[in-house]
Amino acid sequence: MEVRVDNAKCQGHAQCAAMSDDFFELDDLGFIVTISGAVPVRSEDRARLGADACPERVVSVEES
Ligand code: SF4
Repeated sequence: MEVRVDNAKCQGHAQCAAMSDDFFELDDLGFIVTISGAVPVRSEDRARLGADACPERVVSVEES
């Protein structure tokens, strides 16, 4: 699985981190700092939950 993050569109809602048990990392202002890349198998469920929670569709997952 790959996660895609369009960091420039982040609005700082922090829902991605809250719903993914901090798989997605935020800066001190609540904006996402996680970048696109491969997701470890053990973290796939958390990545899906966090991506589904983003109201701006900044984060998505691509099943491989
Ligand atoms: S939920 Fe979406 S908009 Fe909010 S911090 Fe996460 S990536 Fe950014």
